[in-house]
Amino acid sequence: VTESSGPVAALVSVGNELLYGETVDTNAAWLARSLAALGLPVVRKYTVGDVRGEIREAVRAATAAADLVVVSGGLGPTSDDVTKEAVAELLGRELRLDRELVRALEERFRARGYATLPTPNVSQAEVPAGATVLRNPHGTAPGLVLEASGSLVVLLPGVPRELRGIFEGDLATALRERFAGRLAPVHHRVIHTTGVPESRLAELLEPRLPADMGPVKLAYLPDLRGVDLRLSAKGVSEQEAHTWFDRIEHAIEPVVREWRFEAPSGDAAEALLIALEREGKRLAVAESCTGGLVAKRLTDHPGASRVFAGGVVAYDNEVKVRELGVPETTIRREGAVSEPVARRMALGAAERFGVAAAVGVTGVAGPGGGTESKPVGTVWVGLALDGTSETRLLQLVGDRHSIRERAAQEAIASLLRLLRRSFPGS
Ligand code: AMP
Ligand code: MG
Repeated sequence: VTESSGPVAALVSVGNELLYGETVDTNAAWLARSLAALGLPVVRKYTVGDVRGEIREAVRAATAAADLVVVSGGLGPTSDDVTKEAVAELLGRELRLDRELVRALEERFRARGYATLPTPNVSQAEVPAGATVLRNPHGTAPGLVLEASGSLVVLLPGVPRELRGIFEGDLATALRERFAGRLAPVHHRVIHTTGVPESRLAELLEPRLPADMGPVKLAYLPDLRGVDLRLSAKGVSEQEAHTWFDRIEHAIEPVVREWRFEAPSGDAAEALLIALEREGKRLAVAESCTGGLVAKRLTDHPGASRVFAGGVVAYDNEVKVRELGVPETTIRREGAVSEPVARRMALGAAERFGVAAAVGVTGVAGPGGGTESKPVGTVWVGLALDGTSETRLLQLVGDRHSIRERAAQEAIASLLRLLRRSFPGS
């Protein structure tokens, strides 16, 4: 991004809590994504405390480096918020009371049953001379825009909802106008995969990629659930970008087909819900080591009730027996983490909930509880579909959190693959 020939942006995040590590700077991440999408890539980020001198220095450096500087935080009504004063000082602007803003604030407080404006809030109606005011649909601190020797400096409140509201409203419009004709938006296409490690995917994929990728860059974005392949193109029209994306996607399709899934949210659980709904089948779950994670993942998606019937968190062996009909003797002979138990959990859930499809998950999440034959990370997944069943053994790595996340993901993805095999085209 640093080679960008168009206008570029820099971010200044203000707040002691950011330096202490108590608050994660989600504003900077969100702003960087939103600005890149708009065609204003971020080339630098600064984080400073609520200290006038520090803010001045950061904003000074940022304006030297970028055409747009977005400062977030420190616009609250109390004396610990000093961003506006610091920037006004740096740019040699006086603070003046904006009558219009005072009226709007009074109105806002009256609507909430306050007869008068609290004194601290009056300071929020003070505006540096020459600044443009951006409406804040969700709060009292307005956004402010200032011209500063060739750069545009924007001040936004730190509360994420307020910052986003202002950005998506007045600010995006102002930026499009100000940088009209010079913006180079980045176009994206994401291909979701799960069940294949990043390095293996790269090894298989690289020889298939067209020698000429045009304006397209390929990034591998792995997390606990899988690897997203992100194609991005800058400096071309949307149509041209998508023509390139189509060409590249076509070339790599045979390699990624096995692991690929499609879902608007990027979550394989949603892909599973869509596939089941298409086949007119409903789903139940029986979870031991994932403790309800699979059910949670499914019910994260609105409309899950059309497909998801329910589940049993069968943590105690007694629950596996009583609620799912797993034979006690099987548990005693094979252990709770075993192939036949996973199978019987899935079949039991399908039967008890009266549905066509089910998954069962039983494993050793750790950190304790592992044995030589069943080390931490040993997970059995059982799948039931239309009265038939199959199982998968997983050897997962990582801490308890990672093992549970991966087990839930594998359970979801395994059923999705079984469905696809059983009903090609779903
Ligand atoms: P402020 O505008 O500085 O009064 O910030 C108000 C609140 O917004 C803070 O208490 C934080 O919870 C939150 N906040 C401030 N800056 C950020 C940031 N960069 N990322 C996420 N949250 C933030
Ligand atoms: Mg603050």
